[in-house]
Amino acid sequence: MSSALQPDRFRFLHIDLNSFFASVEQQLHPEYRGKPLAVVPTMTDTTCCIAASYEAKELKIKTGTQVGEAKKICPEIILIEGSHTVYAQYSKAINDAVHLVCPVAHNPSIDEMCCELIGREQEPPRARKIALDIKQAIYKNVGEALRCSIGMAPNRYLAKIASDMQKPDGLIGLLPSQLPRSIAHLELRDLPGVGARTETRLKTKGITTMEQLLALDRTAMHNLFDSVWGDRMYHWLRGGITGDDGAPLPNDMQKSLGHSHVLAPELRTEEGAWAVANKLLHKAAMRLRMEKFYTSSMSVVIRYQLTREQAERLQSKRHTSGIRHSGWGMEARFLECQDTLTLLEVLRGIWSHRPKEKELTRPFFVGVTLRNLIPEDEHQETLFGDPDNRMQLAATMDKLNQKYGHTTLHFAGMLPARESAPTRIAFTQIPVQYGVDYM
Ligand SMILES: [Mg+2]
Repeated sequence: MSSALQPDRFRFLHIDLNSFFASVEQQLHPEYRGKPLAVVPTMTDTTCCIAASYEAKELKIKTGTQVGEAKKICPEIILIEGSHTVYAQYSKAINDAVHLVCPVAHNPSIDEMCCELIGREQEPPRARKIALDIKQAIYKNVGEALRCSIGMAPNRYLAKIASDMQKPDGLIGLLPSQLPRSIAHLELRDLPGVGARTETRLKTKGITTMEQLLALDRTAMHNLFDSVWGDRMYHWLRGGITGDDGAPLPNDMQKSLGHSHVLAPELRTEEGAWAVANKLLHKAAMRLRMEKFYTSSMSVVIRYQLTREQAERLQSKRHTSGIRHSGWGMEARFLECQDTLTLLEVLRGIWSHRPKEKELTRPFFVGVTLRNLIPEDEHQETLFGDPDNRMQLAATMDKLNQKYGHTTLHFAGMLPARESAPTRIAFTQIPVQYGVDYM
């Protein structure tokens, strides 16, 4: 792909809030501005900072620094027990502010937004103006302590990279005509999706620098990653658009992990299906940990056996076994986790939304799938993330579920249930609130 042939346009803006949690605290408490501050999950020295203000970062206190260590470096550091509710509210407010300037196409995380530019907006001077207007809108409508770095690029992958190249308050554009040399100075770890484990794997294959990576042709990239990811990355790094631009980035590298099961006739009851779903989840959760992943999304499918007469009324589908059925499915997003207890809570939440119609009492098929797999070493310690204290994590999930209730759940669009029974099944359709979509 010759980048020289592409016009110099920016199709995507990636907005990344700088030190988001810490900045929100500085917004709420003007007396903390300009001071080293860290957000912590609980007030103990043994826990780790989940966010640090820029003043703290200058002292080399960052996300992951142990609180005891942070206090040693800076005895006067301000420690704040974080509130996810408040950060979610700010995330929503920032989204709304950005939206006034340009529609938000995608929220990769609580402090990131992605906008797709169209028509003449893609011309670099106009794109730059939009980016500056976004910064202003956040500053004016949400708060002056909130700064962001914005990356402009021909695809989402590069836009995310660009948003990381200048902090705080950055604005970087990667023009197709200057690619890939404008990113040749980066580290491999600067690439979204390349964490410690992938970096090690690349090293064993002789690739230790970005220049070496960029010297590879497409086939070599494919072989290096041993997947279509290599091909995609080859194009993305050169400003290409692969049509995968709508999908979440780093997670694409991973597969989903799940199990499904056709129930034995004696298990085709509410209780039987629930028991099977539990068993499938336990199996999937065990595999998740064995394969060293975290997950932030679960989908559940239930298929209900219908009588011939019901099937005629409900426009059913026919399973390979010949059983006429109507399907139902739901997906839930939540904080990255890998413990069975938390996942069971999620399963319970989804399960409570299953259809209650009188025709749908004979479940004969259950499937549980974990998606958005995140390699263990790329797992970001989040506010309530405490993998060693699973009880506490599960309790937090309960709290979140009570607080946020249905916004944590939404339908998986790909599921066949809606077409198969458009009016008979009363779906509890729940909108996804993207600012908090990973909870
Ligand atoms: Mg950020």
